[in-house]
Amino acid sequence: MNDCIFCKIINGEIPSKKVYETDKVYAFHDINPEAPVHVLIVPKEHIASHNELSSENVDVMKDIHLAANEIARKLGISESGYRLINNCGADAGQTVFHLHYHLAGGTAMGSKIL
Ligand code: 5GP
Ligand code: ZN
Repeated sequence: MNDCIFCKIINGEIPSKKVYETDKVYAFHDINPEAPVHVLIVPKEHIASHNELSSENVDVMKDIHLAANEIARKLGISESGYRLINNCGADAGQTVFHLHYHLAGGTAMGSKIL
């Protein structure tokens, strides 16, 4: 997966502003933030999208969700609230085909999902 930009970010070939890291998960500030807090949480293993989750690799989702909680606390948005968003495939607007969750908050975004 040599031309995957998130794999390159994970291995340090492309710089990023890291906010969290474990042996399985990496999280960094989005380069084009759409909210005052906009962090991307990714598995270190290359998984192209939510469609590629399987019984073999789904365990990393536990780490991703716990990472989201910890990052939200660390960045001060646990109480005010946040969205945790995954875009899967073309119609959802997925542009980077390495599974990632957007953690967005720091402003009131309302109750609509779109
Ligand atoms: P998607 O549309 O695939 O759900 O989201 C991809 C996200 O990755 C976008 O919000 C975009 O701003 C972010 N992004 C794309 N390239 C880079 C990069 O090189 N560095 C960082 N930090 N974010 C990136
Ligand atoms: Zn990748």
